Amino acid sequence: MSSESTLRIVWIYPDLLSTYGDRGNMLILTRRAAMRGIPAEAYEIRSDQPMPSSADIYLIGGGEDGPQALAAQRLIADGGLHRAVNQGAAVLAICAGYQLFGHSFFAKGSKCPGLGLLDLHSDRGETRAVGELRGDIDPRLGLPPLTGFENHGGRTHLGPGVSPLARVTAGIGNDTQTEGAWHGKILGTYSHGPALARNPAIADLLLRWAIGADSLSPVDDTWPDRLRSERLAAAGA
Ligand code: GLN
Repeated sequence: MSSESTLRIVWIYPDLLSTYGDRGNMLILTRRAAMRGIPAEAYEIRSDQPMPSSADIYLIGGGEDGPQALAAQRLIADGGLHRAVNQGAAVLAICAGYQLFGHSFFAKGSKCPGLGLLDLHSDRGETRAVGELRGDIDPRLGLPPLTGFENHGGRTHLGPGVSPLARVTAGIGNDTQTEGAWHGKILGTYSHGPALARNPAIADLLLRWAIGADSLSPVDDTWPDRLRSERLAAAGA
């Protein structure tokens, strides 16, 4: 965590990348921090504002091709997010945000430069991937299965510098085999929108990464667990 005791969470460009209720991830992180007595503040940084580099956790959401390309251009020109990642910030990147963390992605038929913060690139799929997504998460992360809903046209190809977040057991993810990617404290997924509502263990992983803790005190997850069971069953578990 940063030198001050309050955990700082930044939601990147809600004016561009918030198509699928991405605000939920900011709310869930802040709430799960508060449940452990961890003071946390969340900041929404619009695309016309400078990107701070001193926050602990950055969230970037999904979006349509045009806003996705604009967000990538602005983040490259700004440089604040690159500095934050180099300083060890934790990141959750969803869908369009996940694609733009790679070396390149396709938007509106053109290849666009990405941030190059994850060793991957995305191109166009033959079909749009829409539906329930489920996967077994990399055992090194020690998390229960991923559940989500995906809605994307791109397909993502991982380089040797990242690990797949999960092995797909339902849906498409990156390419029907793997889903998402992670490296260091950056985690990207096609599980779109408020992915942390279905995957509170990922929220806790981000909090642990940010504060440097091996574990957090347990909280009542009756409702998230019910949602998880329902959606995992819907994906054919
Ligand atoms: N525009 C990207 C794609 O279609 C990302 C879509 C999204 O964020 N859901 O692949």
